[in-house]
Amino acid sequence: MFQSRQSDSRRWLTVSAMSRCRKCDGRIEPLMSAWHQCPPQWDVRDEECHGDGEHDTLHASDAEDAAEQWVMQSDREDCEYECASGGTPVTVHVRPHGSDDEWVAYVVTGEYEPIYYVRRCE
Ligand SMILES: [Zn+2]
Repeated sequence: MFQSRQSDSRRWLTVSAMSRCRKCDGRIEPLMSAWHQCPPQWDVRDEECHGDGEHDTLHASDAEDAAEQWVMQSDREDCEYECASGGTPVTVHVRPHGSDDEWVAYVVTGEYEPIYYVRRCE
């Protein structure tokens, strides 16, 4: 009896460890799904990418996190990693989603971490 209950809970942990929120794409910790709350939404605009009145909207814990996530995403999508590899600073403007607040500018810079590989010589 005890053994079967233990294996049931282990299986449940494995499944829930992989779950992600469908709304914010945040990782949902095992045992915490009932308490998950999506972080707030932010509007982010980059003057080089967006025309007048255009912006992207994403979930993030705060405005700085929103700026960082947007640049990470755009670095990934255009596959050039301009910010991370070239160290080119990217300026983005952030404000709470749907608000009339002033846009606040953030500069995002990044860097690549070097990765080394080793193999035994023949
Ligand atoms: Zn969520």
